[in-house]
Amino acid sequence: MHQQPAVNFLAADLSLCQWIRKPGSTYSKSSFPATSMTHCVISFTITWRIMSVKTTITGAFDILLTAEAPLMMNKYQRAGYLFRISIRLLWLVFLALINPVVAQEELPIINHIVQPGDTWPALAWRFGMDESDIRSANFHINAQRQPVIGSGVIIPNSTGVERTGKMLNVNNGGLLQQAIIHNSNVWLLSLLNDHSHPYRPLLYRPIFIPVGQDPPRQYPEGFSSLELSSIPSQPGQGLAIRAQLKEELVIKTSYFHLPVNTFVKDHRLIGIFGTGAFFKEGDHELSILPENGPLWSQPWRMVPGEWTFEDITLTGEAAAIDAESIKLERERLAAIWNQAQGLPLWNSPFQQPIEEYLSNSSDYGARRSYNGGPYQSYHEGVDFSAYGGTPVYSPAEGTIVLAERLFVRGGAVLIDHGFGIFSGVYHLSEVLVQPGQDVDKGEMVGKVGSTGLSTGNHLHWDMLIGGTWIDAEEWLVSNLACWILDGWDQPCLVE
Ligand SMILES: [Zn+2]
Repeated sequence: MHQQPAVNFLAADLSLCQWIRKPGSTYSKSSFPATSMTHCVISFTITWRIMSVKTTITGAFDILLTAEAPLMMNKYQRAGYLFRISIRLLWLVFLALINPVVAQEELPIINHIVQPGDTWPALAWRFGMDESDIRSANFHINAQRQPVIGSGVIIPNSTGVERTGKMLNVNNGGLLQQAIIHNSNVWLLSLLNDHSHPYRPLLYRPIFIPVGQDPPRQYPEGFSSLELSSIPSQPGQGLAIRAQLKEELVIKTSYFHLPVNTFVKDHRLIGIFGTGAFFKEGDHELSILPENGPLWSQPWRMVPGEWTFEDITLTGEAAAIDAESIKLERERLAAIWNQAQGLPLWNSPFQQPIEEYLSNSSDYGARRSYNGGPYQSYHEGVDFSAYGGTPVYSPAEGTIVLAERLFVRGGAVLIDHGFGIFSGVYHLSEVLVQPGQDVDKGEMVGKVGSTGLSTGNHLHWDMLIGGTWIDAEEWLVSNLACWILDGWDQPCLVE
């Protein structure tokens, strides 16, 4: 606890420096010889030290040399002398209090993992620093680019004191409205945010309001929270965002060039998408555009996935596959997969569609080479090798949208789970459901077979979000189904 004064002292220096270095301040950077926050703080520390040493020495001399002086004074001179001595003693006590030795300890460097809303201005507010100092410690050529969600950001020379508060994009009503809502002073908010006059419009400029216990985060206009299902993400994963809204809004969301299916109900938002197993890793932008608000975007890190490789040799009949039939079947299914009901039909975690099987004979995303060619395609589902006639179940609650014999997929059942999420079970020897029928989780929909383009009894299970194949096994492990229901304010029933 004895180190506390040092932290307060440095915090005082930091706020002083922030005030001095404020753009448009009377004490501009040119009138103070500090080029950065660090320099400013160091200069202050040194100035305080010189002042304190000088005052101590001259003060002691003064007292010694003039110890006999009061004897020769009249009573008025003596009163004035004693007054000056008292002031000097108080000044010495003050300097001793604010200048403890620990103030020279090296400031810690924090490696912060970026979360949604950790924009440059939000981080600067949170760690009590100048935005330019954090930016220069984490240089990127594009100044418009916000910190990458899932990456580490260096916070240099932080005081270690993290501030709490809210970052808001404000348009109509401006600071006065915010001051009233948050029971604050409009002039104080103006000063705190470097705003030239409290009644000037803010035009969506993010402002900081020191209320609440959470770190300041800069969310899209109209959002009071924003969460991502996986930080960082991987290609092929089912991905989702969930948020709470201050009002019901129409919102468009995208990740890189992919549109994200976005659903809003009351004050809840769910966005769901899949990237596919060939999606390139990188820091792709997540963009959110509220109907009237400015575009919000922040990169969301995607790290490489791990894949298996399969060499497949096709002979005879299988090699002479009818390409036209394959294309037609895919187009017909794509029309179904691209539909999206605006609500979840499931109400519990998903499960595997088969209980008794011999092995997981092929994973999602396995790179495939046919007859020695390049690895140009990947496996879109999960294969279970099993005896013919083994029961196949629905992985979750939903509605049957297709139940028939197809050319490639053989006996096929397609289940709509809502929110644009579909699962399919293929190569069935028997199909036991009808289109339009609602199914429960674990309800039998067919039996394992080797129909369609298949070389032996097995079940192929695939899952799609918004028309893109996702890793169904990963979907089970991540339990994204319940995470989404929770964001939709709906219970997830777990037996
Ligand atoms: Zn398969």
